Amino acid sequence: MTPPARRLPPLRIGFDMDGVIADFASAFHDVERRLFGPKAAVAAESPEIEAAREEQPAPAAPRPRPTRPEQRRRRDAIWEAIHQTPDFWTTLEPLDPAAVPRIHEMMLRHCWEVFFITQRPATAGDTVQRQTQRWLRDQGFDMPSVLVISGSRGMAAGAVRLNYHVDDSPQNCLDVVADARAKPILIVREPDSLTENSARRLRISVARSIGEALDILERVSLAKDSPGMLDKLSRMVGWT
Ligand SMILES: [Mg+2]
Repeated sequence: MTPPARRLPPLRIGFDMDGVIADFASAFHDVERRLFGPKAAVAAESPEIEAAREEQPAPAAPRPRPTRPEQRRRRDAIWEAIHQTPDFWTTLEPLDPAAVPRIHEMMLRHCWEVFFITQRPATAGDTVQRQTQRWLRDQGFDMPSVLVISGSRGMAAGAVRLNYHVDDSPQNCLDVVADARAKPILIVREPDSLTENSARRLRISVARSIGEALDILERVSLAKDSPGMLDKLSRMVGWT
């Protein structure tokens, strides 16, 4: 009797939320406009920076004088308003409305195991995990696995044994390279040769959008059972 063909384990793929799937920057500037008028003055930093700031113990000594006190005051007020908005994380727009349904379709077709990973800080209302799950469900992904973490993205990628991870933060991609065996795809929306060249030196693949990252993952999934094709693809997209 012929033994059954050995099936390779499913690919385990991680997706960062803000800046990859959800448009946090626009929501941040909407709050800024509501509080301070039409002129945007504060860059929308990623939510993980605010989350890390909140986790730091209160300083024993007075903080050093900020170089841009007005910007700091605005940023703190914007974050305070975000914290007070019930279920803020359910109010974001998707960066690409086709992306979540496409991830869902690819998950089913390629038998992926998918993890949405985030360091969003808490707001009024539901937990960050439930807000993020509800948002993903409303976008077209039933039963999403959402990991709300603190600390290194690489440790999380290692703990859940990711094969691939998509992120818009060079630091998170670097963590994934350093701490886990996952291959990262960095989203760089605008051409930026400095970031793109250093990413490639560090064996981080680069994509312009979540759509382009999913194109890479489609090719990876199709080449999964053919080591030769997978090696060739890995060289083409910068992982080796
Ligand atoms: Mg992000």
